Amino acid sequence: MSLSEILDRALAGHRLEAEDALRLFEEAELGELALVATVARNRHADPRKVSYVIDRNVNYTDVCNVYCTFCAFYHRPGDARGYVLTQEQLRRKAEETKAVGGTGFLLQGGVNPDLPWDYYLNLVRFLHEDMGLWVHGFSPVEIHMMAGLNGLGLHETLRQLRQAGLGSLPGGGAEILVSRIRQRIAPLKGGPETWLEVMEAAHEIGLLTTGTMMFGIGETLAERIEHFRVLREQQDRALARNNGGGHTAFAAWPFQSGHTVWEGKLLKPTDAEYLRTIAMARITLDNFPHIQSSWVTMGRKTGQLALHYGCDDMGSLMLEENVVSAAGTCHSVNRDEMHRMIRSAGFEPWQRDNIYQPVPAVAQT
Ligand code: SF4
Repeated sequence: MSLSEILDRALAGHRLEAEDALRLFEEAELGELALVATVARNRHADPRKVSYVIDRNVNYTDVCNVYCTFCAFYHRPGDARGYVLTQEQLRRKAEETKAVGGTGFLLQGGVNPDLPWDYYLNLVRFLHEDMGLWVHGFSPVEIHMMAGLNGLGLHETLRQLRQAGLGSLPGGGAEILVSRIRQRIAPLKGGPETWLEVMEAAHEIGLLTTGTMMFGIGETLAERIEHFRVLREQQDRALARNNGGGHTAFAAWPFQSGHTVWEGKLLKPTDAEYLRTIAMARITLDNFPHIQSSWVTMGRKTGQLALHYGCDDMGSLMLEENVVSAAGTCHSVNRDEMHRMIRSAGFEPWQRDNIYQPVPAVAQT
């Protein structure tokens, strides 16, 4: 197929095979990708509106025994500098979040081998029942560790967490879902199947999740397309089950190499490369309802531009972020600034919760 035939197929909403998607990724003009991604975006979301969420990225511990080579955040078990948040610290963070109209916590570790199973259940119960927050919590590598700890298996581990109040699962730690890359940057995190297995179990019991990608870690464009392919297939299976489980959204951000062993060894993806990548995500992930702009890592202007490359959501106000900022890059805004950012990009802002339901207007200023 010629490039223009592939573009026409994509514009008409036909699913692209991997080789056609790769050709588009490699050869299409940036403007052509923007056009196709915008048409695709408007099939899923109101063309006039862009959503955002007020929540907080809370890392309940920074103790971790996975030692990803790209991570500048963790401390090893036994290192006196490591922390586990106390209930009082969590309460303060929850109250601050609610005071500014926030609705949830994005809750992730560290993979801390010293915390007992009850710790996680009590943590979720406290945040959900006592503090009234939506808990979007625990990436697949943490769930794997918990299931190893409690011996319950993935499904029962997830069921008990849901019973305790877990609302949904974030897709952190996907990086690039290709063995060659994962082995290179995070050998203890397991292959793509480890991440996919947890998400599959979550979908099988009807939980909502998100898909992510961290790129710019030595992968080829074909490997990014492979990442999209396995996510799309997983979402097909989830939608076919029709049990309420599946990915709500996809977010991609470039690797931040500051303070890691990769500093100075990998070129940071350019703004144009980010925009091409996010547009290709929207075009290929034709069964994902929402695509998030990563303004937190790319900065406000590129974050706004991403809204014209397939994104319909600005993600979080980012009241708190620890992992990306440990590597040197993190932007944050308040609600008024978020509204200005969205409006000046040409859209109407609306506040959502963690599962893309509108937050009642009474909570909005
Ligand atoms: S990225 Fe997460 S799993 Fe990897 S070392 Fe850092 S805290 Fe641990």
